[in-house]
Amino acid sequence: MTIRSINPTTEETMATFEEHSEGEVESRLARAWSTFRTWRNTDIAVRATALNRLADVLVSERARHARTMTEEMGKTFASALAEVDKCALCCRHYAEHGATYLADRALLGEPRDRAFVRHLPLGPVLAVMPWNFPFWQVFRFAAPALMAGNVGLLKHASNVPRCALALEALFASAGFPAGCFATLLIGSARVAAVIDDSRIRAVTLTGSEGAGVSVGTAAGRNLKKTVLELGGSDPFVVMPSADLDSAVRTAVAARTINNGQSCIAAKRFIVHRDVYRRFQDAFVADLARLRVGDPMLEHTDVGPLATRDGLDTLERQVADSIAAGAKLLTGGKRAGTRGWFYAPSAVSDIPRNAPVYREEVFGPVALLFEARDIDHAIALANDSPYGLGSSVWTQVDDEQRRFIDELEAGQTFVNGMVVSDPRRPFGGVKRSGYGRELADLGIREFVNQKTIVLTDGQRATQATTE
Ligand code: NAP
Repeated sequence: MTIRSINPTTEETMATFEEHSEGEVESRLARAWSTFRTWRNTDIAVRATALNRLADVLVSERARHARTMTEEMGKTFASALAEVDKCALCCRHYAEHGATYLADRALLGEPRDRAFVRHLPLGPVLAVMPWNFPFWQVFRFAAPALMAGNVGLLKHASNVPRCALALEALFASAGFPAGCFATLLIGSARVAAVIDDSRIRAVTLTGSEGAGVSVGTAAGRNLKKTVLELGGSDPFVVMPSADLDSAVRTAVAARTINNGQSCIAAKRFIVHRDVYRRFQDAFVADLARLRVGDPMLEHTDVGPLATRDGLDTLERQVADSIAAGAKLLTGGKRAGTRGWFYAPSAVSDIPRNAPVYREEVFGPVALLFEARDIDHAIALANDSPYGLGSSVWTQVDDEQRRFIDELEAGQTFVNGMVVSDPRRPFGGVKRSGYGRELADLGIREFVNQKTIVLTDGQRATQATTE
């Protein structure tokens, strides 16, 4: 299969690549396995130094990598620059805190020098990654995994091969030994065979629900550890006590971030009836004012969708939902004559059988719901197969407590927009997947949490401090 890099702004093919042959995949697997056997024994300080060097290289080459992302998947150049910076931050976070996260853990009720848990690497980890944050998604897996002594093999989305190759080159130029991080240029049909390989010890996937089921099934057959970061349909709940100006401003940003293609974009706006009309009017007016166009230009707010398939899906979801009775408030159509652009849109009065009610909407289309009271708002928010992020806007303590305790989501942000951050664990519940990335929980997903019990004679010398 030929892998194509197509610019979604111009629809031009910028580069083509042949998939790696079976022999090439085998040699990359073999190198990953042999590198793991030495990398796992390197001092943790050496790994931290390598991650800091990687951060330095990223920052020094930020414009080049940002341009590659914008050209391959259409995110605004400004947001691509910010993405590179965030990757560097992630490397520095794990360089600084990795040793603490991985230190031996004492056990309650046992003297620290008798029994403890040690965190040991698992081996080569296969990372199946999406195109929407083509650098960030990879770094949030790779920085903790390599810090823990694992090595990584990346199977990136087929529409971002230049990013995939740039990532491999980055790790090499930062001085990581060959085999610590390599790209496999293969289509999704060949992923299961790689998971079957005994040298692959674990798999992480960020992507759609369908891909999660396939990868989870292949890994399950092999009894291999997985982390699945899947789709989302995050609620953004606004109660009467909210600062409405701030809520509207944030709502627009939260829906259109990354041209509307973020797993944690706010997708369902659930607004208490006392403030619904004011929220809707301001929100729709602000959405309609956004500038859609060339993502390389500084003044552009919303660029194209990354793929033609994504555009077709979005168009079908909106058209079928309107046919089912939903009301179009703005947008609802493609924008421009060239490139995969879709106008920022809003839809209300959405019946439960409308596609946008149950499916993930991966583009700049907002779904508005009016809630009678907090019980109704919570019920609407939880009436989704997904459970990734959630954002709630209220100044009332008791309401905040109820949202925190009752929303079915991997994270709840109060009076703010859901964002990922290396310091905070990230992940979902329900059909948004399982496992956590980032912070302490993320680095401990791909380690053997080995229980160590020492007999008297060996105490103290073996245990390190937490
Ligand atoms: P996707 O189509 O599921 O692809 C993601 C990755 O999975 C790609 O590398 C893809 O390879 C591979 N893949 C697809 N089907 C597969 C299969 N049957 N077996 C093995 N691998 C398979 O998703 P996407 O369109 O790139 O990304 C958008 C999705 O990712 C959205 O649902 C979004 O919500 C989700 N996402 C979730 C998070 C999170 O943290 N929870 C973060 C970002 C994105 P090919 O490209 O070769 O098909």
